[in-house]
Amino acid sequence: GVLDLRKLAERVDVGRVEEVSWQEGKIAVRTRGREETIPLEEVLQDRCLSCPYPTPLIYDVLLGDPLPPKGENEALLRQVEELEELTPPERLRYWKEELERCIRCYACRNACPLCVCQDWCAAEARDPHWISMRDGVKEKWMWQVLHALHLAGRCTGCGECERACPMGIPLLRIRTKINAELKELFDYEAGVKEGERPPLLTYQVSEPKIEEPKW
Ligand code: SF4
Ligand code: SF4
Ligand code: SF4
Repeated sequence: GVLDLRKLAERVDVGRVEEVSWQEGKIAVRTRGREETIPLEEVLQDRCLSCPYPTPLIYDVLLGDPLPPKGENEALLRQVEELEELTPPERLRYWKEELERCIRCYACRNACPLCVCQDWCAAEARDPHWISMRDGVKEKWMWQVLHALHLAGRCTGCGECERACPMGIPLLRIRTKINAELKELFDYEAGVKEGERPPLLTYQVSEPKIEEPKW
């Protein structure tokens, strides 16, 4: 798994770490001569807590032994469920508060292994611009919608966008929700089966799990 520096910072002074060692299921961190032993599940990233694929599905060389699945992404799905239990106005308020903190640094995009457009990202490179540089929640929101929808069907839920965000915005909740919908509707998980085509790149006259409106 990968350590969550924000969780770790609540336990130790991460600016003063002198030594880190791993023990069975625990991490020992020494800061200014004082050692603290913390159970791993308290400082691992949420995505690692119930990772279905702790062993890479494809690799040239595997370091260490293969690991069994830790779950089916329950840790993140629980966070999505908690949000879904809110009323629509409460949920709107939650995301407004979270997204208002976005400084549009695009670290989330730059860290994303699937955001391959680089200098041609629609967030910055279209003329006329799709999003203004105004400092408003609408523009921030538009950026988040654009990023989330461009990654729909390609996002593997690796969590790098959230890890890179300097403002601590819980981006993985958006990705987890979209990925769960894709799994439910199309039985599809990005990055799992080699050669499988993402549902948004294919077309069927009728989708078994999508009810067409009766015009
Ligand atoms: S990394 Fe965070 S602050 Fe920067 S653009 Fe992405 S969501 Fe906004
Ligand atoms: S979780 Fe998805 S959107 Fe975020 S960095 Fe990974 S692939 Fe990109
Ligand atoms: S947000 Fe969309 S346009 Fe921008 S780099 Fe990612 S996939 Fe490309």
